Amino acid sequence: MGILVHKESAMKYVEKCPRCGGAVQEQRVTEILAGGTDTAFVETPAGVCLDCGERLFTAQTARRLEEIADKLKRRQTQDFAAVGKASQVAVP
Ligand SMILES: [Zn+2]
Repeated sequence: MGILVHKESAMKYVEKCPRCGGAVQEQRVTEILAGGTDTAFVETPAGVCLDCGERLFTAQTARRLEEIADKLKRRQTQDFAAVGKASQVAVP
């Protein structure tokens, strides 16, 4: 999963996408984080490139996302709301 962080500005989004140079607009997105066998859908603000869809996070948000991924790995998900069931199916 490619989480891109712009290091020069901790709180602000870059104006131009580092991948394609497109305009970046702040939006609320749902980021899917996986840790171990669990998955979390995280609603978060992000800078979204209007051309290629690249998502950019502030350093602060990236840290929060890392913490959530970490909690998933350690199964510390008591404060997460369960939204469904995950299943594994093998297709031969
Ligand atoms: Zn872009």
